[in-house]
Amino acid sequence: LYNQVQDLKGNIRVYCRIRPMVPGQSNTLSSIDHIDERTVTILTHSKNGKEARKSFTFNKIFGPSVTQAEVFSDTQPLIRSVLDGYNVCIFAYGQTGSGKTHTMTGPKELTEEGLGVNYRALSDLFHLSNQRKDTISYEISVQMLEIYNEQVKDLLSTDKIRNSSQNGINVPDANLVHVSSPSDVINLMDLGHKNRSVCSTALNDRSSRSHSCLTVHVQGKNLTSGNILRGSMHLVDLAGSERVDKSEVTGDSLKEAQHINKSLSALGDVISSLASRSSHVPYRNSKLTQLLQDSLGGQAKTLMFVHIAPEYEALGETLSTLKFAERVATV
Ligand code: ADP
Ligand code: MG
Repeated sequence: LYNQVQDLKGNIRVYCRIRPMVPGQSNTLSSIDHIDERTVTILTHSKNGKEARKSFTFNKIFGPSVTQAEVFSDTQPLIRSVLDGYNVCIFAYGQTGSGKTHTMTGPKELTEEGLGVNYRALSDLFHLSNQRKDTISYEISVQMLEIYNEQVKDLLSTDKIRNSSQNGINVPDANLVHVSSPSDVINLMDLGHKNRSVCSTALNDRSSRSHSCLTVHVQGKNLTSGNILRGSMHLVDLAGSERVDKSEVTGDSLKEAQHINKSLSALGDVISSLASRSSHVPYRNSKLTQLLQDSLGGQAKTLMFVHIAPEYEALGETLSTLKFAERVATV
């Protein structure tokens, strides 16, 4: 039902979201020249100071004033396809501070309007499954994982995940928790966020140096035929994509940077080879792509939110983010 619309557009979508300028910094120059529905134009300067413009086209552009509800409403059909048995991956990509967590979870001081994609997605799945309850009986459960330095950690337990031997790490032996209401989900997300912050040191904001993944498993039993359908959705808040100057970091920070770099480029390689329908898809190059292998490619649907900070001083990262996004986009 919902897929008919989606299928017309292919299985990989890229949305670009530009956050507002940080309040109180009204004198800061912006690198954003122009935004329309599908194209963002960036203002750059050449060496001799001459203005130049570069445009990037994606499936959708969300400007700084676009609300959480509007972002969600453009994501909803994809999310709903999970109840029809599809596998969906939604990624938030961008440099630290560009708005990834804002999109997926919401701002720190959460209000109803501020709620991000994760919470809205789960609420919507409960709502829709309830509407269908006379024909299909659904069970919804979630996992929360973190990938830090190529190690997978279960955020809903205190143990490290053991890899399930048969399927590599495709089916991690992580806590799978049955949920039946939005408040169950809020409680679990709180637990996950607490477990995540326990691991971070004062000096090191681990949340920007690791990937976090909320996975939703759906099983639906058709009450007439007895047929079972299964769908899944991965909602991934990726580590910050900023390039780290190797001459400036050492030790743990260098190791973190190398792991992040490796996994983000592995993700880019997987998505772009899926987009170009290449026969070999290099899933094995990172824990992230191994973990998501069954949900990337085939009939699965992928949505990448790329996040842009509008400040002119972020221009270098902005351009490299947009280039990454252009590589995975098939518009
Ligand atoms: P990231 O997760 O990419 O490091 P955050 O989501 O933490 O970035 O965003 C950085 C700051 O900017 C936060 O204070 C966040 O609330 C704010 N912010 C990000 N995107 C938006 C937006 N679209 N509207 C309003 N505030 C935003
Ligand atoms: Mg964040």
